[in-house]
Amino acid sequence: MHSQGSLWKEFFETYYPGELNRLALRVMENGTKERSLYVNFMDVYTFRHELADELLDYPDKVIDHARVGLQKADNSLGVELEDAEPRFYNLPISRKIDIRDLRSEHVGRLIAVEGIVRKITEVRPKLIEAAFKCPEGHITKVFQEGNRLREPFECGECKRKGNFLLVPELSKMVDSQRAKVQEYPENLRGGEQPQTLDVFLEGDVTGKINPGDRIIINGVLRAYMRRIGHQKTQVMDMSLECISIEILDQEYEELEITKEDEDAILALKEDPDIFQKIIRSIAPSIYGYEDVKRSITLQLFSGIPKELPDGTRIRGDIHILLVGDPGVAKSQLLRYVHRIAPRGVYTTGKGTTYAGLTATAVKDEFDGRWTLEAGALVMADKGIALIDEIDKMRSDDVGALHEAMEQQTVSIAKAGINAILKARCAILAAANPKYGRFDRYIPIGEQIDLSPTLLSRFDLIFTLTDEPDELRDREIANHILRSHYIGELIERSKNIVAVDHPKEVIERKSREIIPEIEPELLRKYIAYAKRMVFPVLSDEARERLVEFYISMRNSVKDQKSAIPITARQLEALVRLAEASARVRLSDVITLSDVENVIGVVERCLREIAYDPETQQIDIDILAVGTSKTQRDRIITIKEIIRNLERELSSELGKSYRGVPEEEIFRRAEDQGISRDRAREVLSKLSKNGEVYQPKSGHYRLMEGW
Ligand code: ADP
Ligand code: MG
Repeated sequence: MHSQGSLWKEFFETYYPGELNRLALRVMENGTKERSLYVNFMDVYTFRHELADELLDYPDKVIDHARVGLQKADNSLGVELEDAEPRFYNLPISRKIDIRDLRSEHVGRLIAVEGIVRKITEVRPKLIEAAFKCPEGHITKVFQEGNRLREPFECGECKRKGNFLLVPELSKMVDSQRAKVQEYPENLRGGEQPQTLDVFLEGDVTGKINPGDRIIINGVLRAYMRRIGHQKTQVMDMSLECISIEILDQEYEELEITKEDEDAILALKEDPDIFQKIIRSIAPSIYGYEDVKRSITLQLFSGIPKELPDGTRIRGDIHILLVGDPGVAKSQLLRYVHRIAPRGVYTTGKGTTYAGLTATAVKDEFDGRWTLEAGALVMADKGIALIDEIDKMRSDDVGALHEAMEQQTVSIAKAGINAILKARCAILAAANPKYGRFDRYIPIGEQIDLSPTLLSRFDLIFTLTDEPDELRDREIANHILRSHYIGELIERSKNIVAVDHPKEVIERKSREIIPEIEPELLRKYIAYAKRMVFPVLSDEARERLVEFYISMRNSVKDQKSAIPITARQLEALVRLAEASARVRLSDVITLSDVENVIGVVERCLREIAYDPETQQIDIDILAVGTSKTQRDRIITIKEIIRNLERELSSELGKSYRGVPEEEIFRRAEDQGISRDRAREVLSKLSKNGEVYQPKSGHYRLMEGW
């Protein structure tokens, strides 16, 4: 072996003289515990490549040598560099191992593992050398290893056994922390469960990372016995002992785009039909939903996140909600988007895969420390969170989701842990109606268990209903059966050798449900757009947006009519228009981008905020849960009941038992409210507990209403 302390001393003195002096200054001032010296692996390789190889293969021995060399290295201050720690980074590509590829051959070697921090414990001191006092007062020091506290066998002086007392002030401790690192969601093939690795951190690398951070950990892989109860088994678990951390800069994108990729992307951009092509590449096996797919396309490209000169941040992420009947392919769509979106995280409202949707502090099962664990939204930072059955979300998550959707952060204050984690992700969510099926005559807010405040944070909400329609049903049936038929052909040709269906036929047929743009290229195209394209509104585009906004607002003629659109929808329009320009990799947001998205927004509002009675769009249906007409009617009916109560109770005195419904209907008709409508209002008021029936067919207002 080449490695020895003196060689390392030479290395540090030759390659890191400046760093040695700075370290010496820190040691001299002793104000800080930062005793690390960061060493670029490539420098070691340049110095002596044999030494570099030994470092990779025998890190325990070689890092000991390096530590000795470092602590003995000369510096211009002449300070002894006690406790100095060499920390190696920038390992060669051959030593970057995916978590799922870790094998026994890597145990004891220096490797680099890249991933997202999923969990992190508090930083706590850990004993390295424990000082014990015997009843006579003698001190014995014991070097600590492993998980259990090691006590002295006997007192070093009086040879007494037992009854030792730990003396923390005389013991040597180090800051320690444990993290769980998880594979990148974008590297998982559809539906795979992400794998994780435990990482042990000690010294001044603690307290530096947060859940959701993307990092490279350079360290030594350890294997330890897995236990079942008290029984040790032959199967080993693995963990990584951290040597150094590289926190990947936020703008870092993992998806590599080669020169050839770029050529393919730029060629694709020239296609005048690019938007339609991408739409057709999203879930081609799902029939229809042109607008939904168009919106998902825009969501994948995303608007431009902005920081204004006054410090205000505006999100660029587009949030979409799909509400609809069971069996209309909502889940299927989400799963498809999960497959193609760079950095997609799939979860359900119930949060089976993660610590809920957001993040939480939990007591660690291993050593009882408080641990901060990231949920789906934090893990999806800079990507898309696919949340199925969002209506089944835990109540803890609701408040956090509000914050995540607008501020794009998740705050945690629990058990002394205060943290604000980043959650800059777009949300594509699906919800089922509360009563099984969707009724387009009842406001959407009443049909799903989501609050109006949450609903108003979605840029687009789509209702997918399953109403029988012969033409459409026939087409869907044909589409589904065609997919199944092709699937059958493929399976048959895989398993049965007979050539009854030639390859060309299968290929030709497959093309009907194969995405026009191959998913791999589409992902790269999207990543390229998000990285390189930052379009700006053209004058015509801006004018058209203003005009659209004003015209919608102006339909509010007097106080009585509905407010059709708010500034929230205007912001949504801008985001969508930016995304539309990005789809073409264009630097300018044109009039046609704006027209494109106005169309989508109008159709979407018509579905969810359309008041069938006035035939107008009324955003209050969404934001407040009842339309203006409905609200007016409720107020009128309550007024009628109130007046009748007063009249009848003074007339009948003690025998008054509520207002007969016939009386209510009569007066309602006088005010232009039909019997049916009045009956609707009464049943709604009963359901809400605003009125009750002391006797069948007789109504009274609840106190306080
Ligand atoms: P949901 O989540 O809306 O309840 P799913 O996504 O589970 O529904 O879909 C149920 C099944 O119906 C899936 O196998 C899906 O492929 C099929 N399906 C429903 N609508 C369509 C459609 N428009 N095109 C193709 N398949 C469809
Ligand atoms: Mg579903």
